[in-house]
Amino acid sequence: MSAHRKGESDLLYRDGRWFLIATCDLPDPRIKNPDAFLGVDLGIVNIATTSDGARHSGKALNAVRHRHRELRRRLQAKRTKSAKRLLKQRRRKEARFAANTNHVIAKQIVTEAERTGQGIALEDLQGIRDRVRLRKPQRVTLHSWSFHQLGAFVGYKAARAGIAVIHVDPAFASQQCSSCGHVDRNNRLDQACFSCTSCGFAEHADVNAARNIAARGQTGWAVSHAA
Ligand SMILES: [Zn+2]
Repeated sequence: MSAHRKGESDLLYRDGRWFLIATCDLPDPRIKNPDAFLGVDLGIVNIATTSDGARHSGKALNAVRHRHRELRRRLQAKRTKSAKRLLKQRRRKEARFAANTNHVIAKQIVTEAERTGQGIALEDLQGIRDRVRLRKPQRVTLHSWSFHQLGAFVGYKAARAGIAVIHVDPAFASQQCSSCGHVDRNNRLDQACFSCTSCGFAEHADVNAARNIAARGQTGWAVSHAA
């Protein structure tokens, strides 16, 4: 058991008894060992893109956020109680809409993985804020909590279906050619187009990134599950 211990433990005193709260990461015996991985690339234009080519658009969510931002700008100038209340309502509405969108996308991703017998490779979101800071025009629409939420939804839906999930380092996934491995920022022509300067491989930029995530998931799984 101690081999699976993670992070800190808490000692808790309740109703005259002591409890030790520890987090354990146990390998679930119901999780199937996958032959391949479905890679998921996260973004703003497309919230999620899979290595199989499915793109989940962020258009509706971005429109809601844009409307909310405009309203906030107008209401914040007022500073009245009713303006504050309205702002709070809108913020909750936006969060509900984002959560609902994430549920739908997570379900589609897990269904796709289940249908094709694949595990799911997700980006490790540790550095997402740094990574997205580079994309200036999109900065305002970034909500990193929303990506964490999507990851969490995929995680528990996958666990319920017995599907393996692995988190991988997404560094340079968008600049790397998923066909030959060549890394070059010039491989990325614009937001949507990837074209390798070395081998000529061309693909939708998000799909190419998702294929790299998938390959890293495959490698990571093989390394961590080698007996
Ligand atoms: Zn290439």
